[in-house]
Amino acid sequence: MSPSATDARLFNFSAGPAVLPLPVLRQAQEELLAYPGAGCSVMEISHRDPVFLKILHDAQQRVRQLLGIGDSHEVLFLQGGAKLQFSMVPANLLRGSGKKAHYMVTGTWSKGAVGEAKKEGSIEKVWDGAATNYDRLPAAAEYQIPADSAYLYYCSNETIQGVQFSSEPACPAGVPLVCDASSDFFSRPLSIEKYGILYACAQKNAGPAGVTVVIIDRDLLPRGEEHLPGYLLYRNHAENDSEWNTPPTFAIYMLGLVARWLQEDIGGLASMERINREKAAQLYAVVDAYPHLYQGHAASEFRSMMNVTFRLPSEEVEGRFLKGAAEHALVHLQGHRSVGGIRASIYNAMPKAGVDALAQFMRDFARIAT
Ligand code: PMP
Repeated sequence: MSPSATDARLFNFSAGPAVLPLPVLRQAQEELLAYPGAGCSVMEISHRDPVFLKILHDAQQRVRQLLGIGDSHEVLFLQGGAKLQFSMVPANLLRGSGKKAHYMVTGTWSKGAVGEAKKEGSIEKVWDGAATNYDRLPAAAEYQIPADSAYLYYCSNETIQGVQFSSEPACPAGVPLVCDASSDFFSRPLSIEKYGILYACAQKNAGPAGVTVVIIDRDLLPRGEEHLPGYLLYRNHAENDSEWNTPPTFAIYMLGLVARWLQEDIGGLASMERINREKAAQLYAVVDAYPHLYQGHAASEFRSMMNVTFRLPSEEVEGRFLKGAAEHALVHLQGHRSVGGIRASIYNAMPKAGVDALAQFMRDFARIAT
């Protein structure tokens, strides 16, 4: 990358597609025209070519290593984004089961998943945070999951509201736990054996848009009914090594590079979590230091490490904040169009320098604005 291109990079707080690690972008740039051993771009080779199969298996292996995934679970690379999983999960685990599935509604994305699941079968909301505008998460005593549930569904990090589970919700033995981890995947270690299905679209912490990682307990693969459209059956993808049809080859290549960056440059997910905690603590400390100006959306104990959401006293002040931030190379800080306010997404690849600069800007803005 020429120095001018690096200099032109702003601190990008987009919620997704989001900032990618600079070493990953550099490597992709170096290999863009001719991937070593291929004589052409990754984008130009068959998904069945040995060169691509090596890229695919390397990416799968790195996901397994990072998350400590054993033989009990498959790692699939699918298309259709996280939203297709809103439908694939109930299509495979609920439709025709004669059971009910249980959903925790903790924000926009789990609410969206409920809407799609209802098309596939009977569901029950076991908890809904609407009454407090999704600013908190349930305690174990606030919900109950019957032992014959088709599955318990939750979203580990609500990207729009900025609330994050610090650990898995309680789930009876034998009930598959299903998690939408789209916006905190790869941000911390996980105990994969607790999950029936954990999925994440890549475009926040794991790569560019186009690939969705699905980690599924092999015992669940027989469950989908044969007459479902072929793409929707998890086992078709598992039996064909994520090549039931043409997978998103370039996105998988990029995901592999991100996983390698996490392993080799960061030192794994425990190190990544430490860094993420520090970055988030830095921003929340500024929010808390100026309560008359910054009103955090999430209740303190449920604050997200990934999406720091807060409001200022009026839209006019928020407008000035965003304009001032942009003048300091701090961009894409506006909250989701459905809730407004400010949202600083500080995914894995957001450098500490970006968080330092935002924290400094917030302190300076507080001095001018008050
Ligand atoms: N779930 C969560 C937690 C998300 O943040 C998003 C996207 N922002 C989605 C689902 C939807 O993802 P996609 O656009 O890939 O379908």
